Amino acid sequence: MRAKVNQNICLNDYKNVWIIAEQRNGKIEPVTIELIGEGRKLADILSRELIVAVCGYEMKEETEKLLHYGVDKVCYVESPLLKDFSTDGYVKAFADLINERKPEIVLVGATSLGRDIGPRLAARLGTGLTADCTKLEIDETDNKLLMTRPAFGGNLMATIVCPKNRPQMSTVRPGVMEKAHFHEEKTGEVEVIVPALTKEDIRTNLEQVIVADQKKVNLVDAKIVVSGGRGLKTAEGFALVQELADTIGGVVGSSRACVEAGWIDASHQVGQTGTTVRPDLYIACGISGAIQHLAGMSESKYIVAINKDPKAPIFEVCDYGIVGDLHKVIPAMIEQIKENPD
Ligand code: FAD
Repeated sequence: MRAKVNQNICLNDYKNVWIIAEQRNGKIEPVTIELIGEGRKLADILSRELIVAVCGYEMKEETEKLLHYGVDKVCYVESPLLKDFSTDGYVKAFADLINERKPEIVLVGATSLGRDIGPRLAARLGTGLTADCTKLEIDETDNKLLMTRPAFGGNLMATIVCPKNRPQMSTVRPGVMEKAHFHEEKTGEVEVIVPALTKEDIRTNLEQVIVADQKKVNLVDAKIVVSGGRGLKTAEGFALVQELADTIGGVVGSSRACVEAGWIDASHQVGQTGTTVRPDLYIACGISGAIQHLAGMSESKYIVAINKDPKAPIFEVCDYGIVGDLHKVIPAMIEQIKENPD
């Protein structure tokens, strides 16, 4: 199905930067704070307001917390029909609001929920959407949004513009943008909006939510990530990576090669098709440094690489490189850290 494109719209009618907030069980998800951080920068460059749109029910107090992150306004669309996520309900509520208020930029998290509603919203609004962006900028010459994302298997970065339609929409990869800072004082206000939404608008019926019992790997918020690659040779090699991570309070990550080999669950994968991380410390053990892996970790504050090949590309991006066999280097590191815990 092709989206209906808005013809003859007046670009000047569209103002302000909007964030589509994500909530689960009435709690705002961290990706929203990242989008606010990035949205604030864009709004300041354009001298526009930053507005967060939230759908939910009985969560006014939670939406007020967003006012501590430097937003100008929260548009809280409240209805019992929006308590739980439904594609139909959320898309209709957000689309109606956007059609009425006409923002010039709309940012959505590239999470499973955001990837569900983002393209549908764009189709409803008759505009384009750049999916999975890793960088957003404003073109100084005409104030258009420059949306950059990996293309052709991550071998090049493509910058995309939406010149003729509004809003300019983008889904943004979680973990890439810096989170907005919390301020003691509040700014802005929460406007509660009652949507024109009926039961009949929602074609699905939520029977039950089953929480996966698999241990959640929180790579995005980790301050230290210790990742293993094909250089580990076997699934058992991850015991060594886990031991190093435990010693320094880190979380275990992985290259895609190990996930494909079945050595570790996909939730640990770092990279273009995995999770994007920006910890204070990233230790890459037996990882060559393919561009698709680097796409997910190169923003880390400090990168340490352990690889037996001195020509491995990972050494071009690391702050500290150790050329050697990881099976010798990692135990030596653990021993040193345990002897000198400070
Ligand atoms: P290799 O490239 O095989 O590197 C293993 C490294 O271990 C080598 O450098 C070797 O010198 C070193 N080594 C071997 N033995 C030892 C030892 N004893 N001690 C120390 N070092 C040793 N990859 C990702 O990681 N994440 C992604 O999200 C991702 N997405 C992709 C998306 C697409 C569309 C495509 C095409 C590819 C993607 N890939 C991704 C795969 C990526 O291209 C690489 O194939 C992958 O990252 C390689 O993983 P690796 O570094 O563990 O393995």
